Amino acid sequence: MMREDLVFGPIHSRRLGSSLGINLLPQKGKICNFDCIYCECGWNKDGHGDHVLPTAAELRRDLTAKLQECRAAGTPIDSITFSGDGEPTLNPDFAEIIDITLALRDAYYPEAKVSVLSNATRVGREDVFRALQKVDNPILKIDAPTDALVARINQPQCDYSVRQVVEDLKRFEGNFILQTMFLKSPDFDSSDPESLEGWMEIVRELRPREIMVYTIDRETPMKGLQKFTVEQMRELVRPLLDEGFRIQIKG
Ligand code: SF4
Repeated sequence: MMREDLVFGPIHSRRLGSSLGINLLPQKGKICNFDCIYCECGWNKDGHGDHVLPTAAELRRDLTAKLQECRAAGTPIDSITFSGDGEPTLNPDFAEIIDITLALRDAYYPEAKVSVLSNATRVGREDVFRALQKVDNPILKIDAPTDALVARINQPQCDYSVRQVVEDLKRFEGNFILQTMFLKSPDFDSSDPESLEGWMEIVRELRPREIMVYTIDRETPMKGLQKFTVEQMRELVRPLLDEGFRIQIKG
């Protein structure tokens, strides 16, 4: 999912409506501190060697231009979503960029919701935590409940401890959206009791205001991965649905 522009769209999404995208990663490459076996941007090693990250000043310029253009054309914008080729919080200007984006949103499209998709590895940093707390939808990933399982599915390239991330996420007091990928690979299966029950315990501990469960959709860097159907995923999360958790399931 390589995108040339720092600000792209708006594209129409069933869930988000008319959505502007922001890619805080290099224009021609992927930068992430995970290397998920299912990543739609491919393996980290296959990035194109472009390590130039957009700055806060560039974001201000491009987002202002795009919002002005959309407003002049009468184009509706329902959401502004940070979801680029990698992990947006790795951009050193991330916190400043969130402030700029929220101010521009307030000025041009006050009804639009700002969302950030992040792998949650950096929520322990105070500036990242505070920035994520300010946006309407911090969408934060936990795919597996133990470091050994995370190693198989997300392949962290950084110091990572699920326990530490859970402790850091507790500071949101449930005011975030948990995102979890369900899939089967030769050595990882989201429906294994070790994975599923451990993950459900984390959900109960964190009580996120919403959970987004999804499965593979496009080509993946690891071959031979299998997806789940919506019905299968609904059965897998049934105990949580019965306990009243709000869960969006995307096939
Ligand atoms: S966290 Fe997201 S961008 Fe990073 S490797 Fe995983 S799927 Fe790709």
